[in-house]
Amino acid sequence: MMKRTAYLTLTLLLGASLCACNPDKPKDIEEGPSGLLTADPIEWDGTKNAEITYQLLVYSFADSDGDGIGDFQGIIDKLDYLDSLGATALWLSPIHPAMSYHGYDVLDYAAVNPDFGTMEDFRALVAAAHERDIKIYIDYVLNHSGSDHPWFLDACASAGSPYREFYTFSENPAADIEAGRIPMIASEGANGYDSGQWFVASNDAEGVMEFVMDWSNPAAPTVTVTRTDAPADPENTAPATDNDKFLYAGDPGQYFKFYDDGGGMYSLTVDFNSPWGFLIRTEGTDDWTPGTKYGAENSENAVIQYGVKMPLFSSEDNNAVRDILMPGTLFYHSHLWTSWFADFNYGPAAQAEQSPAFQELVRIGQGWVDAGVDGMRLDAVKHIYHSETSDENPTFLAKFYDAMNGYYQGSEPFYMVGEVLSEHNVVAPYYAGLPAAFDFSFWWRLSSGINSGTGNTFVKDILSYQQEYAAVRPDYIEATKLSNHDENRAGSDLGESTAKMRLAGAVLLTAGGEPYIYYGEELGYTGVKDNGDEYVRIPMNWGDSYNTKLSSYTDKSEITLPTASVSEQAADASSVFRVYKDFAQARHACPALAHGRMVRHDLYNETLASLPALCAWIMESEEGRVLVLHNFSGGEINFLLHDTVTGTVSVQGEVSMDRGGDVPRLTMGAYSSVVFNI
Ligand code: MG
Repeated sequence: MMKRTAYLTLTLLLGASLCACNPDKPKDIEEGPSGLLTADPIEWDGTKNAEITYQLLVYSFADSDGDGIGDFQGIIDKLDYLDSLGATALWLSPIHPAMSYHGYDVLDYAAVNPDFGTMEDFRALVAAAHERDIKIYIDYVLNHSGSDHPWFLDACASAGSPYREFYTFSENPAADIEAGRIPMIASEGANGYDSGQWFVASNDAEGVMEFVMDWSNPAAPTVTVTRTDAPADPENTAPATDNDKFLYAGDPGQYFKFYDDGGGMYSLTVDFNSPWGFLIRTEGTDDWTPGTKYGAENSENAVIQYGVKMPLFSSEDNNAVRDILMPGTLFYHSHLWTSWFADFNYGPAAQAEQSPAFQELVRIGQGWVDAGVDGMRLDAVKHIYHSETSDENPTFLAKFYDAMNGYYQGSEPFYMVGEVLSEHNVVAPYYAGLPAAFDFSFWWRLSSGINSGTGNTFVKDILSYQQEYAAVRPDYIEATKLSNHDENRAGSDLGESTAKMRLAGAVLLTAGGEPYIYYGEELGYTGVKDNGDEYVRIPMNWGDSYNTKLSSYTDKSEITLPTASVSEQAADASSVFRVYKDFAQARHACPALAHGRMVRHDLYNETLASLPALCAWIMESEEGRVLVLHNFSGGEINFLLHDTVTGTVSVQGEVSMDRGGDVPRLTMGAYSSVVFNI
């Protein structure tokens, strides 16, 4: 039944604009017996007019040989499934040998992980995919290699290694950054130093050392460190006094109390093994709130020389005191705060193409082009150069893109999409370097809109982001998406509501841009990262022998798959899967959806305050226009439909039309969607 009274305000508002709209009743609208709309059968002839990329994690997608780990042959065996879902490209998680199951700590960029198959198997996958007009994009990890990569191990082993230049090493990172000697961290000056991003590559500073402090002038204490063959002192258990001094060389709680030798002199011999150096501290109230901190005054003089007195500096601001570094300790940089990643050094961005690391990764990348790869997804591109917002990363990326695209012989330009895990305004400048970038803001606005029942601001936001991208690159490719392998599953962010997941899929596949579907999303997968990333990377539920086993590639225990299987959902018209399949096929079959642009609706937009749940836009291409309507709320909405609609392209949820009045009235059930030809 219609709920006219509840929308009186809207009716009056729309009535006022009647003269601007065509009052003709729509023609050729398919209606079921109760007025429910059904889509015209979509005559998809299999021609792929849209671009739809399917993101899959090789290890958890499809296991052909029963070892529990997904493999290339498994993907080949499931290509018909991906084809029916309209996929035009696959983004494969890193395929190289790696330190971790996820593959983002690469050990050999030129090889394939033997768990996934052989190089021949990979070539067979490429060929089988191409037969179905499905391109292959590999995940190319340019920011860092694994810290066990032979290049890095060789670079650590000797200063004369040819790979020394591939990475960023320093004996005094803060000083080198401040002085501009670290090209990857050049634009921020001293602000670019983060002690948590530096790890010990080699350490000659281990062993028994004697620390002697002269505190006879409390305003100017000194410390002298000397290597010694003497044994380490036993723990100093003398009763606490106000004059106690501590050597602090580890995590909170790991103190060595100095011996008070009288006359302001203190000494201590310890078996020293601190990766970052040391500080001196006075007694505090507890381990977590130490007293005054004494260290180096500035980064330039932070490295001690054995046997030479070093002045100790203190400040009311403990953070102004620098760690005292030991000679012979070499650090390497990892912007992502993990010792498992060793960041590449490409030299100054403006000359990156001259760096040996750049040249080698281009050479290997071109080898993947030779193997038939059509594109790359680049990981963590805002972290390659340290500053996310300087033009260094886009400058570098343009050089890398040109090197790959110039080599590629395809009918279209080489595809390359960057991961800039940030809002639209940070992403936009990266289009100066890359043809495509993920639009994380798309999902963040979409999920919050659906969860708050607010649909009428979504289009305004997305169109404004698109303008930002277009200002940098007119032919920008907006890689739209819901969640991915680094985020909570879309289904969890949507409160595990099947209706919301169906709606989110319908929005993704009716909006502008070139959408990505994260494997399992089409089944309504849930999963959160709280207990580990593996929980958003669990096996695809095929309902057959191709299911992988989480316990085969991580140390996490088996968990229950969150949804009905592919085969079960394919048979269920109300499943999440059916929305993805129907709307993906509609996107290919309908030119305006396939490559149209989003246009703001004159009437159903952010100014329509009386109907906040309605999310509407036009998709427009040279071949035609469609009206896209979504109800972001959990309640039924109805309104006068002033567009002259001539047929229903796709529907999900309950949508009905009452054509009894001069202007038809559309009723949209909770979280429903409809696309009309107009
Ligand atoms: Mg296998």
